[in-house]
Amino acid sequence: MKTFLRLTSLVRPWFWWMALAALTAFAATGSGIGLLLTAAWLIAKAALQPPLAALQIGIVGVRFFGIARGVLRYTERLISHNTTFKILASLRLWFYDAVEPLAPARLMQFKSADLLQRIVDDIGSLENIYTRVLAPPVTAILTSILMWFLLGFWSQEAALLLLLFHLLAGIGIPALSAFLSRGNSSGILQEQALQQVLAVDFAMGLGELQLSGNLQSHLERLEAAETEKLRLERKNALSDGMHEALTGLLMNAAVIAVLSAVMPLVESGQTSGIALSIVTLAVMASFEAILPLPASARHLEADIHAGERLFEILDATPEVTAPLSPLTIPTDLTLEARNISFTYPGSFRKALDQVSITIPHGSHTAIVGPSGSGKSTLTSLLMRFWNCSEGELCLGGHNINLFDPEELRRHISLVSQKTYIFATTIRENLLLARPNATEAEISSALEGAGIGHFKSRLNEFTGQHGMQLSGGERQRIAIARAILQDAPIVILDEATANLDPLTEEEINRTMEQFTKGKTLITLTHRLKAMERFDTILLFVKGSIAEQGTHRELINQNGVYSRMNGAGRIPKTS
Ligand code: ADP
Ligand code: MG
Repeated sequence: MKTFLRLTSLVRPWFWWMALAALTAFAATGSGIGLLLTAAWLIAKAALQPPLAALQIGIVGVRFFGIARGVLRYTERLISHNTTFKILASLRLWFYDAVEPLAPARLMQFKSADLLQRIVDDIGSLENIYTRVLAPPVTAILTSILMWFLLGFWSQEAALLLLLFHLLAGIGIPALSAFLSRGNSSGILQEQALQQVLAVDFAMGLGELQLSGNLQSHLERLEAAETEKLRLERKNALSDGMHEALTGLLMNAAVIAVLSAVMPLVESGQTSGIALSIVTLAVMASFEAILPLPASARHLEADIHAGERLFEILDATPEVTAPLSPLTIPTDLTLEARNISFTYPGSFRKALDQVSITIPHGSHTAIVGPSGSGKSTLTSLLMRFWNCSEGELCLGGHNINLFDPEELRRHISLVSQKTYIFATTIRENLLLARPNATEAEISSALEGAGIGHFKSRLNEFTGQHGMQLSGGERQRIAIARAILQDAPIVILDEATANLDPLTEEEINRTMEQFTKGKTLITLTHRLKAMERFDTILLFVKGSIAEQGTHRELINQNGVYSRMNGAGRIPKTS
């Protein structure tokens, strides 16, 4: 119920449009009843062969209701579809607005295929909340009231009887149908979600599945989800058929019941025989408004389930929020970590433990340490993907929480080991870093990243996830992006780990040139050409073990110097 109320509050801005659509829907159904009513009167009356003039009013009535019904139905469809599409568009934006601040920290727990399903299918299912769930009961109630007055004109008893049948068909059958197919709609959505997750795993991990011999079992799981979905859909179809048959039965029973109430009036001469044909057809026409109600009940279940899935994401509080009045980023970008600690949610181990460092503006620093020692975590905190659990990170003397996170990120170029390449052209992938970059700027960025020959391939498609490029090429595109962005702080997080030693050296030299006067932080687990850094920070298990220049650390004869002998740091954790 709570979910339903929240869902209706989402569509409240279109209340008047929805009300107008419901009214036109009712007017169209009313015209349908009017048409049958006047037609029945006309035919019955004509059978008695009165003078033509006596039929005139019936002819006009048939003409009027016939045209009105068509026009009103068309208008109703126009308004309700227009409203539905407006609702759909705003639901998508609303959902996107809600999801965006959650990335990446709060979205980690959701699978991407599942998120996609929520955006596409769940919102698609909510699209119908007006046309399938909210509107039909309104039209049905109004039609019932109209019929009450109409039949009441002949007989109170007949009006009461019809109301009873309307209630049975409009509430009893939907309740029965909802009971018989309970859980089906949400089950179908669930199976669909599972199917999508499995299908994405199948497409993305096809190679691994084939190599490990798990292809068959994966396909079987996919098939099982499909079979289950089909089974639920069949159950739904059965219940659809049943409620249609029952509603038809009730409609005919209603006709008989109402006729038996009006018949004595005709016999006693209180009303003419023509009334019988009018009443029969009007009763049948009124059921047109009752017929969609069982489907409404089922859509309601699906919508509530979809709503719950959407609200689940919506109700996650973003890890990071922008301050109300953010400070402007200072010109001095000295970075300072004051006793920061950080533990990932659900983890018992501190990824960072009481780290205090100062990285002066314009200095070149290397953060080294075995994998898992917390180097990337420090970057994530600085980029404000997460908030420190303890201590504070400062930029130019101000806590970074005081800046607008987006503005802060614009001042930092991050090249990480895993680069996401969008499935578009190489040019579009580069322009991400600076949308208004000129041709010359793009060229020099490509040169800097060691892929000058890409200049002639700028309009080439990169393939899904950049699959048409090699790992090294993808990485160099990321470096070219960083050069284009031209931010005052550059962080290279194992950025060249996938490259061959020659290329790595070449790129390091370019980056050295490019970052003159900028702050450069290089995170690496391989000790190579360390003399070029002003300071080296050695991380071990989330804490700083040693710090100083390459020379100083070698002379200390500590962990660093022993590791330097090996050329890289052995895994200690
Ligand atoms: P490094 O970059 O030095 O290799 P990380 O900063 O990536 O190390 O990881 C530090 C520790 O935090 C590791 O023990 C790792 O398992 C853990 N960790 C990293 N990312 C996450 C995450 N998203 N959720 C939970 N634990 C994580
Ligand atoms: Mg790392």
